[in-house]
Amino acid sequence: MLRVDGERLWSDLMTMGAIGATSRGGSYRTALSDADRDARNLFVHWAKEAGLTVTVDRIGNIFARRRGADDSLPPVMTGSHLDTQAPGGKFDGVLGVLAALEVVRTLNRAGVQTKRAIEVVNWTNEEGARFPPGVMGSNLFAGQTTLDVLLNTRDRSGTPMGDELVRIGYAGRIEVGRRPVHSYVELHIEQGPVLEAAGVQIGAVTHTSNQGGGMIEFIGENGHLQTTAMSQRRNALVGAARVIAAIEELGMAQEPDGMVSATVIDVWPNNRVNIPHKAQVGFLVVHADAAGRDRILNAIEQLSASIAQECKLGVSFSRSPQRHRFEFAPELVEMTERAAGRLGYSSMRLPTWTAHDALNMHRVCPTALVFIPCCGGISHSELEWCEPEHATAGANVLAHMLLGQAQQLDAIADE
Ligand SMILES: [Zn+2]
Repeated sequence: MLRVDGERLWSDLMTMGAIGATSRGGSYRTALSDADRDARNLFVHWAKEAGLTVTVDRIGNIFARRRGADDSLPPVMTGSHLDTQAPGGKFDGVLGVLAALEVVRTLNRAGVQTKRAIEVVNWTNEEGARFPPGVMGSNLFAGQTTLDVLLNTRDRSGTPMGDELVRIGYAGRIEVGRRPVHSYVELHIEQGPVLEAAGVQIGAVTHTSNQGGGMIEFIGENGHLQTTAMSQRRNALVGAARVIAAIEELGMAQEPDGMVSATVIDVWPNNRVNIPHKAQVGFLVVHADAAGRDRILNAIEQLSASIAQECKLGVSFSRSPQRHRFEFAPELVEMTERAAGRLGYSSMRLPTWTAHDALNMHRVCPTALVFIPCCGGISHSELEWCEPEHATAGANVLAHMLLGQAQQLDAIADE
């Protein structure tokens, strides 16, 4: 039975993790940074070494293609992202890309030719840590935004994504998306505690959560910090502080179905001797049902208004685009379970609480998301970790699913 080289995969994960390595064992590789460029270069090098044809589209998504016997058929796509949070871990996203590469090497070693081409993809800016929001490359591939909007998205220093793509050498010429894809399979660490707690090796992801978020802006009045009477102050930062604490309290009351926290604050002029006249607070919500998500959003809007009134501030509240719960392709959920069973791994069904490139690819073609456990459910952290045997198990399941999809013959995996 076809099995990947787990040691090679693990060594690749460690080599990739060393690019932008942090002192506490994580990686700092935000999208389109020098470290992201180095990671892309290494991926392209490995892909070419494995005999793959590499192309880059106009938003910098990289596709490494293994030819199919009938290369005119839409390809089976697999992959994830090599960019990280700031800082992030070695596995979030990276596992999906490097496991896919190891699957291709495994097919090469076994001399397997598939009917359809297999494309390993590294999506641009999944994390959104430097250029918010995230899952950009796959979002554009799925036709949910425009190239112009993305190229003009700026980081905090005002640098547009388009300039950075050119600078690191990944402003490709190929049109983004607009081509058929047969199916998409993404392997990812769970980023939650469920699989580990259950002692289960493989997660077949059945559905997503309802997500939303927004931005609250408080407007006060600038003034000298050492002369303006306390009673006269209209300090926008105080409004921000109060709403942050109130959102956290609201979040505590939502578990286990929902969660919400404020995550971003910007304040102007952000100077020790000025009373802040403007402050913005960003937050994110997830909830098992849409009504729950909307209740939280409404509650935060009301909280913002009453806090603004008490603090004598102006306020505006804006909602970011929402994601609604959907079900992944049932035949691929079953295929995940079958592949796990055949390989002797335990599996269970579970939802994903977080966004992934797979959530965008679901709009393009039948899509599967496969989870493996990560230690303590920790991610978006330098402490993120997964056990080598779990990475291997995930890659083996990925191999059998890709083989099934690319051949359209599930039975081949039994050989
Ligand atoms: Zn990820």
